[in-house]
Parts: sequence; structure tokens; C-alpha cells
Amino acid sequence: MLSLATLSLRLGVSSCHGSRRSIATVISGIKTSKLVRERLKAEVEAMKNQFSGFRPSLVVLQVGDRDDSNLYISTKLKAAAEIGIEAKHVRLPSSTTQDEVLRSIRSINEDDSVHGLIVQLPLDSVNAIDNELITDTVSPEKDVDGLSCINAGKLSRGDLKHCFIPCTPNGCMELIRQTGVSVAGKHAVVIGRSKIVGAPMHDLLLWSHATVTTCHSKTADLPEQVGRADILVVGAGRAEMVRGEWVKEGAVVIDCGINHIPDATKASGKRVVGDVHYASASQRAGFITPVPGGVGPMTVAMLMENTVQSAQRFLLKNQLRR
Ligand code: NDP
Repeated sequence: MLSLATLSLRLGVSSCHGSRRSIATVISGIKTSKLVRERLKAEVEAMKNQFSGFRPSLVVLQVGDRDDSNLYISTKLKAAAEIGIEAKHVRLPSSTTQDEVLRSIRSINEDDSVHGLIVQLPLDSVNAIDNELITDTVSPEKDVDGLSCINAGKLSRGDLKHCFIPCTPNGCMELIRQTGVSVAGKHAVVIGRSKIVGAPMHDLLLWSHATVTTCHSKTADLPEQVGRADILVVGAGRAEMVRGEWVKEGAVVIDCGINHIPDATKASGKRVVGDVHYASASQRAGFITPVPGGVGPMTVAMLMENTVQSAQRFLLKNQLRR
């Protein structure tokens, strides 16, 4: 029989040893994302063997040259290469017009050898570009970021099998699954209602049969709402906003936040913290994600998952056509 410690290690969860009073079990995004990437690598290998060298392929379209975007893109390309996904980086100059970006997207949409297309946001252009128009021009069948209205609409209606789920909330769900806590029947609270994190997170929890409350900047009684959460997912972009004393004893706490705060002890003069005050929350929560090393690594893993899924759908569609 497996000991609790062995089982926890396999699941990517471990006891929080940061402080003597800590009780939360830490949900590691690093361990969990590694498991996902290993599974995907095996699936890609199987696809390659079964369909004479076929490989899933992903295009990352960038406009301009932002340093943060360059870093995110290189992480995605590296993850793709490790899994065996063919990834291509298309970089357009910051002088590119909206029409030119749309033309590039349409031409990639029509290319059957590409299964996933993401447009790296924010766009770094000297011209006015409508982000909504850009994300909605990506073919829903290749929209592995899950940001088009078609995919968002399907998700909000609970049609999870026929859409692409945005990567960050999809990663959060995977981390919740790792805890072994059943979502059905629980009270879940999401802080944030953005298209990329909060809104799809609400939908995913709802269709996993939780009763969901979504909070935002106009929510009047945030601590009270948080106190009701069996499952709490925070994506507000406010450093350490959620205090430990708000958190319900034993809750599952998933922190999407990535915030840089000054820290004179670091060579860089800053450090990364989440939207949850980790030190106090980890003393009340049952499970908690760290920042860094929690949701962040899962986002990239889920992009890879969506790309592999898109390639599988492509193969299935073409087999059925034959
Ligand atoms: P947005 O700024 O688009 O949305 C923030 C949301 O939080 C909004 O809905 C806003 O409400 C709400 N909010 C802001 N302040 C408060 C407050 N004081 N009380 C309650 N709600 C508040 O951010 P994103 O959704 O893009 O990102 C959220 C966080 O997640 C950020 O820290 C970001 O860095 C991180 N992130 C992490 C990713 C990862 O891979 N780990 C990926 C994407 C994001 P309102 O709608 O009323 O303005």
C-alpha cells in the first residue's frame, strides 16, 4: 500500500514546510505540468508512429518585439520542442497594420499543416489594432488559446468537448483535480472576470457542478465572499490582496496572480508574489498553489495539451472524410 507521502509526491502535492504552523498542502504546478508534458510527449510519439511521421504543429504570431512577449514565446517554443510539437514563431514588425495582421491570420487558418494558432498579446504595434477582431479571426478550430467568441460561447454553454478551453483556467482545473477534492456540490469563488482567466474559470467550475460566485472590482463584500469558498481561484492582478484571515478553513486556494513587488534582498530589487497572501493563507487553506511554481507552469502545459488535441481532432476529421 502507498504511504500518504508517496501518494502526495505522485500527485504533485506536498505538505507545506515553510512554517511550523502551516497546515496547507502545496499543489505543485511544476510537478503537475511535468506529468502533463510527459503524457503529451508519449501521445505525440504514438501519433507519429501511427500516422507516418505526422506531428502536431503550432504557430505563434507576434507583432513587435516586447521583451516580456519574447520571453513567454521562447518558453512556449521550448515546451513544444520537448514534446515533439512542431512550433513556428512568426514575427511581424511593429509597423504592421491591422489588415496585414488579419491577412497573416487568414493565411495560417487556411494552412492544413497548422493545427494551433495563437496571437501573442498584447500586440506591440504603432497602429491601432482591434484585439477582439484579431482573436476572433483565428479559426475556432485552431484557436488553442480558446479566446475566440465561438470557443468562449461553447464553454459558457457547457459544450466542453467541442471547444478549446483557455489555458490558465484549464491549468487551474488540473491543479484542483490533483487535490482529490471533488468540485461537484462545492461553493467556488472566482475573483476576476477577464476573458482569459476569471470568466472561463467561472464556466469551468460551473460545468464541473460547483455553485459559483464571481467577484470583481465592484464586489462590495470581498472578504465575506471569500470566506464562503470551498474552492477559491484568484486572478485579480493585485499583489497579496487576499488575506489568510478571509480564507475558509480547509479551502482549496488557487492563485493565478503574477505581481512584481520591491524586495531589497534580491539582486533584481524585486520578487514575484501572487494575488493571495501566501504566508497567512497557507495556515488556513487545505491546499494552496505557490507563486511562482503554481499556476504559471500549467498555462504552458495546457497550451501544449490544446495543440495536441487540435491535431487529434484534425486526424479524426480527415479519417472520417476518407
Ligand atoms: P485583468 O486585469 O484582465 O482582470 C483582473 C480582474 O480582477 C478584473 O475582472 C477585475 O475586476 C478584478 N479585480 C481587480 N481588482 C480587484 C479587486 N480589488 N477586487 C476584486 N476584483 C478585482 O487580469 P487577468 O485576468 O489577465 O490576470 C489576472 C492575474 O492573473 C494577473 O496577476 C496576471 O498576471 C495573472 N495571469 C497569470 C497567468 C499565468 O499563466 N499564471 C496567465 C494570465 C494571467 P473588473 O472586471 O471589475 O475590472
